[in-house]
Amino acid sequence: MAERIDGKSVSAKVKEEVRLETEKLKEQGIVPGLAVVLVGDDPASRTYVNNKKKACAQVGFYSEEYALPATTSQEELMDLVDRLNHDPKINGILVQSPLPKGLDEEAVVEAISPEKDVDAFHPSNVGRIMIGNFHFLPCTPAGVIELLKTAGVTIAGKNCVVIGRSNIVGKPMAMLLLHENGTVTICHSKTQNLKEICRQADILIAAVGRKHFVTADMVKPGAAVIDVGINRDENGKLCGDVDFEAVEKIASCITPVPGGVGPMTIAMLMKNTLSAAKIQHGLPL
Ligand code: NAD
Repeated sequence: MAERIDGKSVSAKVKEEVRLETEKLKEQGIVPGLAVVLVGDDPASRTYVNNKKKACAQVGFYSEEYALPATTSQEELMDLVDRLNHDPKINGILVQSPLPKGLDEEAVVEAISPEKDVDAFHPSNVGRIMIGNFHFLPCTPAGVIELLKTAGVTIAGKNCVVIGRSNIVGKPMAMLLLHENGTVTICHSKTQNLKEICRQADILIAAVGRKHFVTADMVKPGAAVIDVGINRDENGKLCGDVDFEAVEKIASCITPVPGGVGPMTIAMLMKNTLSAAKIQHGLPL
């Protein structure tokens, strides 16, 4: 039976480290500040924003929330980002995605100052991650690496398979595994022989967005299985991409959904905001 990797306790540990460092910064008169911008009334986005605000309070950050109507124009949103870029109280800016139809998300991300881009979505930060010279790592993939390390999983030299190639999860996930010296394969909707490729994986990461997508016959016995997916089952219950009950019997370790990768994403966001505050005050990381 696989060990369950407890994302809640690992995230609590990361947040506690951030809280202690924040206390020290406060002694120097520095309070890390995060601005979270929500446009429209998507309920899942509202939940994510609430959780981010709650985490800010837990670690002692200053936070601002901008809840804008779905009718907000591109210009209004760009003006707000510009204002936050110049606000010294704000070290990190997060614009919750997805934006309502009609708004150009790419333009908004590019307008965020790279030093305040705590999601690490700005092309300049994406490029930095590619060459290994980065300040911030994208929160979800960075959280996955943290979980693997905490579970004692060696990445170097191991076959790592990432299912999904999105800009926010799959691609940066593959890059971070490569930085950790994994041998990485990225699978996607056009991949052939998916099952055979997944069965080669010592570390299997699912970021597809389809419940029960990863079945037991896709998993090598003893593999570490990380489930990034967030889906709802037929009863409306949260579930991941992995057929947890069946795969748990085969894997060496596995993340549950909820309580796995999800809490880590927010913890890493706090870590990035702390780093942003340090960088902007000329302090070492
Ligand atoms: P996305 O829709 O942008 O990407 C899904 C990927 O799955 C695509 O790259 C696609 O090629 C691949 N895919 C689709 N069908 C496939 C198939 N049949 N075979 C192989 N690959 C296939 O989604 P995303 O933004 O990368 O998110 C993926 C999942 O992770 C979603 O459920 C999302 O909610 C979740 N997510 C969780 C967190 C977290 O904090 N836990 C953060 C971000 C995203």
